[in-house]
Amino acid sequence: MSSKKIETVLVSAGRDKKYTLGSVNSVIQRASSLTFESVAAKKHATINRAKGELFYGRRGTLTHFSFQKAMVELEGGAGCVLYPCGAAAVSNAILSFVSSGDHILVAGSSYEPTQDFCEKVLVKLGVSTTYYPASIGADIASLMRPETKVVFLESPGSITMEVPDIPAIVKAVRAISPEVVIMIDNTWAAGILFKALDFDIDISIQAATKYIIGHSDAMIGTAVANERCWEQLREHSYLMGQMVDADTAYVASRGLRTLAVRLKQHEINGIRVAKWLAERPEVAVVNHPALPGSKGHEFFKRDFSGSCGLFSFVLKQRLSREQLAQYLDHFEHFSMAYSWGGFESLVLANQPEELQAIRPAETIDFTGTLVRLHIGLEDCDDLIADLEAAFARIA
Ligand SMILES: *Cc1c(COP(=O)(O)O)cnc(C)c1O
Repeated sequence: MSSKKIETVLVSAGRDKKYTLGSVNSVIQRASSLTFESVAAKKHATINRAKGELFYGRRGTLTHFSFQKAMVELEGGAGCVLYPCGAAAVSNAILSFVSSGDHILVAGSSYEPTQDFCEKVLVKLGVSTTYYPASIGADIASLMRPETKVVFLESPGSITMEVPDIPAIVKAVRAISPEVVIMIDNTWAAGILFKALDFDIDISIQAATKYIIGHSDAMIGTAVANERCWEQLREHSYLMGQMVDADTAYVASRGLRTLAVRLKQHEINGIRVAKWLAERPEVAVVNHPALPGSKGHEFFKRDFSGSCGLFSFVLKQRLSREQLAQYLDHFEHFSMAYSWGGFESLVLANQPEELQAIRPAETIDFTGTLVRLHIGLEDCDDLIADLEAAFARIA
């Protein structure tokens, strides 16, 4: 990985002349067919088709190569596979390393569709999943079996935001089996805040749909792999037909250029709102990894270089259906929507039993309604006034 500072890497990464052809960012090269000048050129392209030579659209064009190279500069590793969305990156990364009869370990607080994939698709292939709680640490050793092939991490946990002790987990897994493929859904860190490959994790997956795209207007997934896992991930994903169009790859590449400054502002705004919420009498707990009292805060401080705009908080009261509608329906600046990582603020709410239903390995230890916020790039005072008015509606 480069010794340059991250802000500089994000501006320059993937902008070699061969990808930009003299413009500032990469060209958008739309193609299925890529033509060969001669039999010799076709032979050369065929031999080097997985090494960044133009071969056929499904193997990528200059636009894809530029973005993939930039992701490797950002996250380290040997290469980056692109997928049509984050969910495809998660499922194909797992599928690339399991066979019938295998077993995998998955974070119990991971993104719900990841768990759904394990329950509805992997089971059909004869691959079983055990979910572990975020607090497991070195005790993950007790869940390892001879047929365990993948350990899947996510940090912080989805919605409830627990930060696991990743070095303890990785060390315990490697002590039992150096071959196990350790992968992480690293979307929250955006490839910046947690350097997964530096922690001996093999594959860092992102829903680049979130902060890399950054404008809630396109979907793409990335998986950056180390030398050991790169070829298998690349070839299996290729055989599964994973590909994105050049326009989307371009938008992702453009998103990288402003990622550092956007993320910094999401962090500042997020912490300011989280601290304001922590002082409110209506709030039982704020689940923001950068705030003391959030689960795994000590691991966050040790392993992460910063936070983003996504966190949650738990109300002391469980809102009735009517109160929930009163609370959610009248925000001025927070939209109600899935996803996050765009420039705009978002709000969603879950009742504790809804979370328990999607958390087989975790005990939901609160009784109030949970609210998840994505804090965007609006002015903080405006956002806080909006949240204050929402509390008044449920008083
Ligand atoms: C959104 C998200 C995904 C899925 O990404 P899509 O691009 O929506 O498929 C996966 N993991 C996490 C943590 C996410 O937030």
